[in-house]
Amino acid sequence: MSQTDIFQRINELRTLIRRYDYHYYVLDDPIVSDAEYDALMAELRALEAAHPELITPDSPTQRVSGTPASQFAKVRHPQPMLSLGNAFSRSDLVAWRDRALRLLGNDAAIACVVEPKIDGLAIALTFRDGQFIQGATRGDGEIGEDVTANLRTISSIPLVLYPPDNTSDPDLPATLPTMIEVRGEVYMRTADFEALNDRLAAAGEKIFANPRNAAAGSLRQKDPAITAARPLRFFAYGVGPVEGVNLTSQWQTLRYLRALGFPVNQDARRFTDFDQVLAYCDEWMARRDSLPYEADGMVIKIDDFAQQRELGVVGRDPRWAIAFKFPAREAITRLLDITVNVGRTGVVTPNAELEPVQIGGVTVRNASLHNADYITQRDIRIGDYVIVKRAGDVIPYVVGPVVARRDGSERPWQFPSHCPACGSPLEREEGEAAWRCNNFSICPAQLVRRVEHFVSRAALDIVGMGERQAELFVQLGLVRDVADLFYLKAEQLEGIEGFGPKRIANLLAAIDAARQRPLDRLIVGLGIRYVGTVAAQTLVNALGSLDAIMNARQEELEQIPGIGPVAAASIVDFFSRPENRALIEKLRAAGLRLNGAPQHERQSDSLAGKTFVITGTLPSMTREQASALIIAHGGKVTDNVSKKTSYVVAGTNAGSKLAKATQLNIPVLDEASLLALIGIAPTSAAAQPAPEETPTATESGQLSLPLEQ
Ligand code: NAD
Repeated sequence: MSQTDIFQRINELRTLIRRYDYHYYVLDDPIVSDAEYDALMAELRALEAAHPELITPDSPTQRVSGTPASQFAKVRHPQPMLSLGNAFSRSDLVAWRDRALRLLGNDAAIACVVEPKIDGLAIALTFRDGQFIQGATRGDGEIGEDVTANLRTISSIPLVLYPPDNTSDPDLPATLPTMIEVRGEVYMRTADFEALNDRLAAAGEKIFANPRNAAAGSLRQKDPAITAARPLRFFAYGVGPVEGVNLTSQWQTLRYLRALGFPVNQDARRFTDFDQVLAYCDEWMARRDSLPYEADGMVIKIDDFAQQRELGVVGRDPRWAIAFKFPAREAITRLLDITVNVGRTGVVTPNAELEPVQIGGVTVRNASLHNADYITQRDIRIGDYVIVKRAGDVIPYVVGPVVARRDGSERPWQFPSHCPACGSPLEREEGEAAWRCNNFSICPAQLVRRVEHFVSRAALDIVGMGERQAELFVQLGLVRDVADLFYLKAEQLEGIEGFGPKRIANLLAAIDAARQRPLDRLIVGLGIRYVGTVAAQTLVNALGSLDAIMNARQEELEQIPGIGPVAAASIVDFFSRPENRALIEKLRAAGLRLNGAPQHERQSDSLAGKTFVITGTLPSMTREQASALIIAHGGKVTDNVSKKTSYVVAGTNAGSKLAKATQLNIPVLDEASLLALIGIAPTSAAAQPAPEETPTATESGQLSLPLEQ
């Protein structure tokens, strides 16, 4: 690149970044994804680093972005509110530590405080003689907006401070400061954010892209009554200027803030060993999906204030702190089309076909649009740029459109009036969001999904059968109901592309083996609404045979512990349909096991009286196997976490159930701990304590903070 080209590109980047900053910080309504934004910023930084003569003080790399909005009075921060440099890997963190050590002297001892980076907006709260007198946003770092009236409506912000009780922690000042500026984050929990967006969409109002923008948009309202109605929370993570008390470290400051009555994140930790800093960041990345709020990373701060002062600031970032960023969970991309899927119970769901986009290292091409109302209320149009979210084991979904990027070519979308697979008119029951194709026995799409479910691992587990084979066999008319699989003959499969003699023999053998599957697996395979693995096992254990289950009255079913009225009604409804009765007869004739030999012969009572919920993928067992094991040792397995749950057994990709366990303080076990509890594993590891039970001090220099959030 010539010098002129470089100059031009730098200007281009600055203009783009300023435009995106305006949408993000002033309108609380981003128009590009963070990844796109960060890439532009990285390019600008690299060009400026290679050509320092082109750096100007107003470059976005040199100052915090976010012009204060004119509707609020301006507040000059007595000490600038900075941003944070980013680290994306362990080696970035180590490089940061090494630079700090170089500046402090290589033999300096450093301790770090590691805190979750909850994604909201930074604010500064000023207290004089214990009274809250002013609160301001970060703004451009030098000048923020006076949002005092709005902050007063957030119940987790104390309006009056009381002298701390330092009897248990004599390291803390015993008095109130004459003046203190407390810094922290205003944020919204994920569930509150989703509920707020649903409310806004139903009222035809604009929705927010993510909890961070929702928190910022809710706080920066002209009318404090609107802010008061928004579910905002606050946590404190630091201080600006302080008068009247002497604070010497970040760790002491957090404890002091807690003692003054501020919510402080209970997961902050202090480490003297940097390997533990790295391990704690990794641990958090794994825990991220189970948190009730969005954390986009961890903040690592050098603990000692004297060392912080020595390290100082470069551009807009302090050298004494860094944000370790987790992979992104959101992106903005184009909605190319909307197609619909017909599920096995006939529910027709809209599906977004997206311009492929990377989210956290995975290419996303499709995303859920939930239902017809969701699309209408959010006014999602084909051709729109849309915000897509992918988190944990939840299917990626479209949050909403980026209205500011419309160019007029976008088209509203109409939900089909007829089933795309069989042409039957779609119906919707009063009060239900879902449209359904009620042509249960004929609709080929439903049949394909039913076959797919029937052969799946949790049901009859037929190796060699999957989505593609289900589609093919239905299309060729070889399978008209799931029982037809057991009547397939080799000659029917011969000549189908890809089906050589060996494959045919293997498939027929796998189908044959499935005749011997236990009854509960067959019941799962039937796909009765509200009857999953646990309910199927409960039914078999209680009634013993499919005939008994088929002929049970609703009241009888309801009396079985673990079978509620909704499942009972659904079972009765399923077996009242002649086509389902005929299907059972066909399966009987095909030689399937319709009697439930006691599948879980009692092996011990070691888990008697204990109720378990299993979530996520376990390393060596399926959930069904784990559940059978628990039952065999006298325990109970249920689907939902409640106060009555004794343990949650969690594998990888555990989602909301793990979050609920954490919330309710229920011990969480991994597979090894479950086995140990039963007494059949070599290890004697017992239940991991739930995060709240983390001990307050451990060896090797780690201290945890006995704080609540
Ligand atoms: P940042 O959010 O990456 O980090 C600094 C902020 O972290 C602080 O101001 C504070 O609010 C917060 N924080 C949370 N927990 C903290 C803790 N324990 N201690 C200290 N601080 C804590 O920085 P930023 O400058 O506010 O924003 C930059 C980010 O915003 C980038 O990731 C960028 O992608 C995104 N952004 C996106 C767009 C867009 O158009 N998509 C535009 C601008 C910025």
